[in-house]
Amino acid sequence: MIVAEGLTKRYGATTAVDGMSFRVEPGRVTGFLGPNGAGKSTTMRMVVGLDRPTAGRVTVGGHAYVDSPAPLREVGALLEARALHPGRSARDHLRALGATHGIGAGRVDEVLETVGLTGVARRRAGGFSLGMGQRLGIAAALLGDPRVLVLDEPVNGLDPEGVRWVRQTVRRLADGGRTVLVSSHLMAEMAMTADDLVVVGRGRVVATGTVAEVVASV
Ligand code: ADP
Ligand code: ADP
Repeated sequence: MIVAEGLTKRYGATTAVDGMSFRVEPGRVTGFLGPNGAGKSTTMRMVVGLDRPTAGRVTVGGHAYVDSPAPLREVGALLEARALHPGRSARDHLRALGATHGIGAGRVDEVLETVGLTGVARRRAGGFSLGMGQRLGIAAALLGDPRVLVLDEPVNGLDPEGVRWVRQTVRRLADGGRTVLVSSHLMAEMAMTADDLVVVGRGRVVATGTVAEVVASV
């Protein structure tokens, strides 16, 4: 479970996240919905421990990752702008990431299969389409078989088939008992993907509840 309490992040004069409180329940897909600039990415980076709150806190399974990133076996994340090494293959990216977390090559081949990249596993990632890059990012998030997944705009730039694939994958992961927080700026997308919604704007939570509850309230 993810619990945010008064979570706040300021960058100089900019308040990116302004006292957000919300919960993400296990076995459910929680959609993090809001326009660009609402503070979704910043919040997700704090969940994973890649950014430090200015005030308030966010815990994952009771643990606040403030001084080091969450272990891949606990939290898997697809975050925007995770740099790829263009000359490295998909498999080598995952092997390098796995190696720093004690995860072996066998698991790498498993997640490549899960995301449908087995056939291109040896190709350089620099030649990947946006959709293939997203699949590789999701493979990285799944590498540690974590109980919690944080996916920042996973359908951005995907073709309709890719969008469907992400939706099905997210559903399957939640049905397996995982906790999934997935962001989007598209209400229709979230209505199709999520069980619960946390709607945000200008760094604040503006509505929470099941998709039906939130839709009825707006
Ligand atoms: P979203 O993911 O909802 O689009 P972000 O979390 O990316 O929103 O951004 C929220 C606000 O914080 C924006 O105004 C953005 O410009 C600002 N911001 C995000 N990261 C930084 C940063 N590293 N330095 C300065 N401002 C930032
Ligand atoms: P580098 O390219 O410098 O090796 P990486 O992109 O492999 O950097 O990752 C840097 C750190 O970010 C890793 O040690 C890992 O802890 C974390 N990380 C990378 N990808 C993910 C992911 N999908 N989910 C969670 N953490 C990740």
